[in-house]
Amino acid sequence: MRRLYLDYAASTPCDLRVLEAMHPFFSEQNANASSPHSQGRRARKAIEEARETLAAFIAAQPAEIVFTSGATEGNNHAIFTTAKALKARGKHIIASGIEHPSVLEPLRQLQADGFEVCFIRPKPDGIVPYEDIRSAMRPDTILVCLIHANNEIGTLQPVNQTGSLCRERNIKLLVDATQALGHVPVNVKDMPCDFLSLSAHKFYGPQGVGALYVRQTDCPAFILGGDQERGRRGGTHNTAGIVGLGEAVKLCQASMTEEAQRQAVLRDRIIDFVLKEIPMSMLNGHREKRLPHNVHFSFKGISGEELVSALDLSGVSVSMGSACTWGRLEPSHVLKAIGLDDPTALGSLRITMGRWTVPEDIAYFLEQLKLKVNELRKTR
Ligand code: PMP
Repeated sequence: MRRLYLDYAASTPCDLRVLEAMHPFFSEQNANASSPHSQGRRARKAIEEARETLAAFIAAQPAEIVFTSGATEGNNHAIFTTAKALKARGKHIIASGIEHPSVLEPLRQLQADGFEVCFIRPKPDGIVPYEDIRSAMRPDTILVCLIHANNEIGTLQPVNQTGSLCRERNIKLLVDATQALGHVPVNVKDMPCDFLSLSAHKFYGPQGVGALYVRQTDCPAFILGGDQERGRRGGTHNTAGIVGLGEAVKLCQASMTEEAQRQAVLRDRIIDFVLKEIPMSMLNGHREKRLPHNVHFSFKGISGEELVSALDLSGVSVSMGSACTWGRLEPSHVLKAIGLDDPTALGSLRITMGRWTVPEDIAYFLEQLKLKVNELRKTR
């Protein structure tokens, strides 16, 4: 049976060119990057090259990049260290209502510790108005958390305007760019922010490695026990992973613009087909202000979980929303925030494409989707 992967937002397959670049660092060049001998120095050099590549890609300074295990770690770090450092100045935080759980959960913990968190609702098109963020700002606001592109419905948020607002008012800004980096332009010049989190496995790099951009290089340490990453994050470097991240960035740099255009054509083909050919279907999120490779629908009278399973049997891997909330029967907080009722939210499907998706794949997927939605509706 043909197998078709349309769940790139959950994790992109690692590009073989990335794997090739990583390979020596697992075997003949597997020295500890903190070791003083020449092999250790070679590993350190490879890490510094990856740091420079990533820094240049987002218009940052190399010293502002801290390599991490992924965006979850970066988000936790940015939130907890800011709260600790600035609690004497204020205990008020603003966040969009459509953040990833790796932002929401730390914020919930801070709420339990006496911080006040104001969540800003998106409009029904899945975009959080920056005017609402501005209205929520107070003299005691210390941090704003805004996701760059939502991981479920793919909508792009007003990060540039929010960045300027925060800078004017001396409020820290955390931008979770995990879904955006490598797919749409992301840089800290147009979007002034204090923290920016990312994970390599969302842009054709390996899983388990990421980075946090930290504007002030003197930020406090967040993992103690070693002087790696200028003492900010202790622990032996994941050299192969970091080299893979750097290589993945280079590949995105070379092809991002044309890939985004190519994938947007496929995305729009899916949207046009579904809205025309499948009755009682609805697109979630703004039609254009969304990632070029993301589509998200609700189908009336359908269980999204059953639809994902039915498509899986036809060889197609898709998801209901984020992989992180899979298995929970509750409707996603993102779909509730844009105003969907529970049955509609539970009848949803996210399709995300990537570098290896071709028009024939989309034709096969659409044929199977129409078939499965019809079959499931008949059995109700
Ligand atoms: N933020 C967003 C927007 C994400 O989509 C994800 C991954 N689903 C994360 C953070 C966490 O990334 P990781 O699991 O690689 O730490």
